[in-house]
Amino acid sequence: MLSRKLLPVFMVTSLLTFYSYSEEQLPWYERLLVGMEVGPTGAQFGGDTSDIEYAAKFSGKDIVAAQLQTGSQYIVIWGKDSEYAYYNSNAAPQCPGLNGRDVIQETIDAAKPHNLPVIIYCVVQGNGYPLRDHPEYEMRGADGARLGRICFNSGYIDHAKAVLDEMLQYDISGLHIDMLDQGFGPPYGCWCERCQSLFKKEYGEEMPAGVTWDEDWDKMLEFRYNTSDRFEKELYQYVKSIKPGITVDFNYHGYPPFSFEVGQRPVQHSDNGDFVTGETGVWGFSALGVGQTARFLAASTPGRRYQVVMQRGVRMYHDQTTRPLNDMRWEMFTLLAHGGQVTIVDKTRYDGSLDSVAYDRFGKIFKEVLKKKDHFGQPNYAEVGIYYSQRTRDWYAKEEAWRYQQSFNGAHATCVYEHIPYEIVLDENVSLNSITHLKTLILPNIAILSDREINLFKTYLENGGNLIVTGVTGMYDWMGRPRNDSAISELSGANAFEILPSLDNHVQLHKLNQPRMALYEQIPLDWPFLVEGPGVVYKATTAEAIGDLMKPARTVRQKQGKESTDMPMSPDQSVGPAILLNQYGRGKIVTIAGSPDYASASEHRMTEDRYLLRNAIRYLNQEPEISIDAPTIVETVISREENRFRVHFLGRQTPPGWTPSKNRPYSLPTLVEDEPLYRASVKIRNKIKDAFCSNDNTVLNKVSDHQIDLLINDVHDVVIIDL
Ligand SMILES: [Zn+2]
Repeated sequence: MLSRKLLPVFMVTSLLTFYSYSEEQLPWYERLLVGMEVGPTGAQFGGDTSDIEYAAKFSGKDIVAAQLQTGSQYIVIWGKDSEYAYYNSNAAPQCPGLNGRDVIQETIDAAKPHNLPVIIYCVVQGNGYPLRDHPEYEMRGADGARLGRICFNSGYIDHAKAVLDEMLQYDISGLHIDMLDQGFGPPYGCWCERCQSLFKKEYGEEMPAGVTWDEDWDKMLEFRYNTSDRFEKELYQYVKSIKPGITVDFNYHGYPPFSFEVGQRPVQHSDNGDFVTGETGVWGFSALGVGQTARFLAASTPGRRYQVVMQRGVRMYHDQTTRPLNDMRWEMFTLLAHGGQVTIVDKTRYDGSLDSVAYDRFGKIFKEVLKKKDHFGQPNYAEVGIYYSQRTRDWYAKEEAWRYQQSFNGAHATCVYEHIPYEIVLDENVSLNSITHLKTLILPNIAILSDREINLFKTYLENGGNLIVTGVTGMYDWMGRPRNDSAISELSGANAFEILPSLDNHVQLHKLNQPRMALYEQIPLDWPFLVEGPGVVYKATTAEAIGDLMKPARTVRQKQGKESTDMPMSPDQSVGPAILLNQYGRGKIVTIAGSPDYASASEHRMTEDRYLLRNAIRYLNQEPEISIDAPTIVETVISREENRFRVHFLGRQTPPGWTPSKNRPYSLPTLVEDEPLYRASVKIRNKIKDAFCSNDNTVLNKVSDHQIDLLINDVHDVVIIDL
């Protein structure tokens, strides 16, 4: 990487405070908080040369004027998609509706006098004209079938470079390259002649004949990852060799819900480019996915700036809807609170003109962002780390990514609902240094663990860290085959005998001694409750065993395999303990034989599932440095800067919804319309010197030296607490 900045964001902030003259010297992505990406609507339905109304009013001048009017700090202008170039191009067909106009030049001419950075949006997905004109660029299935996608090992890269060459002639700040997916679903892989010969050269053998999930497929996955990696690095270096000062970023898809099929690993591919950028939004990623994506990008590129992209539409890009102000405010401030730079995507009308009401709302949002700008970008504060394993994603879940990612989602949901400050820890870049500050590390169904990881956890425990392991953690080998024992039996202080074949397992807790009561909070005793998800039969060796894990009842016909077991059944008998408490070095391990994480994100979730996991976290750290009490409609994000805590409150209250016209009984997410009104309190172990908040209408009461109570009536407020 030529211009990677390893400067942590908080250092950037303090540099800005003390040496404001240096602000202009920082690259645009490190000094700016919010901007926009604008592109036309129509070409995604295909192009026709007689389509002269399309993008006829797509004007760089109008778009820049709208940016300046709203307070947007940079503009990502649509340069090229799979059908057209929106500038004077020889490499790609020009959009006929522009009638010879050059939107990039228009944008630069309008932006330059105002020092508004211009970034060009460039598509490399290329399933439009590149595939029509060059069938040799196309991915091929194992049977030779055309797959309708660009092969990133093909000669297509020369076309991509030719396009970038043209774009680099303009006086721009950066290039946003969208997007290196190798498909978002089956079929997987490319068996074109070029890929076959590259594979043979690399591995000395033929490609596997299909999706085999064996050692050969392992090489195939590696080959796919390296293909995207090589393509990205080559484009990055190409741009830098011509204009080193131009930033390059790739629209990244290494984060959940994406899995191996896209051809990206969480860390390997986020590392390419000057900063990582990913998409989010309730429309395709869920309300919890917004903060989760931000934290994931932060974890994949530690210490570096990252960008998250949200959009104006209610359901999907280009859908010509505009979300209510509070719905967009909620997403914007959630992303900023987590530390991201945020781009709002606007897809224009068919003729390229802008929706004035949408821009009125963007203006209100940006104005508020700039007013609150000093409260974003400080180092995130975390008590708990949620572990994410790419190897488990690929080789345990395989083509059913949810089998693993649901556990990750449930662990994340638990931390959000319970206001436990968390960060995400990734197997690809984990080190002792990156987890030492965490009180507890959660391994949510991390089925596959390497010796390197286990040794790392041992040292972490010896140094006083704590571990929570759930479900089938450590129960599968490197190739995703079930083991006969647990890879972490020494840590959990128990031997594993069986992975239950059922998911509808139950947990029951019984009356217990006082010191363990933290594990029982809000869970009725002597009452089996469903904890849907993988379960493991353990027998304690050195651990203290608590409660029961119960297998489900089965009808005679179910036992005969004649009926489905998708609907959870009632509990049958106990098969082993529910919880195992063990000591290792100075650390403690709580092993949960069931999967409260998986359950918490399942269709059959119970609040007690979440309490079970939360109680384990609280048991291991009974007097946290900072704790927050707030309703589950509120997400809180804590940052810390020496003796100053900032607690962001993001209230997401939505009206009741209904079922969609298709796919009942699922329901449509509804939009945030109202400012929620709720009480919250913050408790801090150390003495609070001073506390204040950003909003005028928040009622803040310092009720003791260690507690402040709040009455908040907005989508976002931030409370600043000095110790
Ligand atoms: Zn290929």
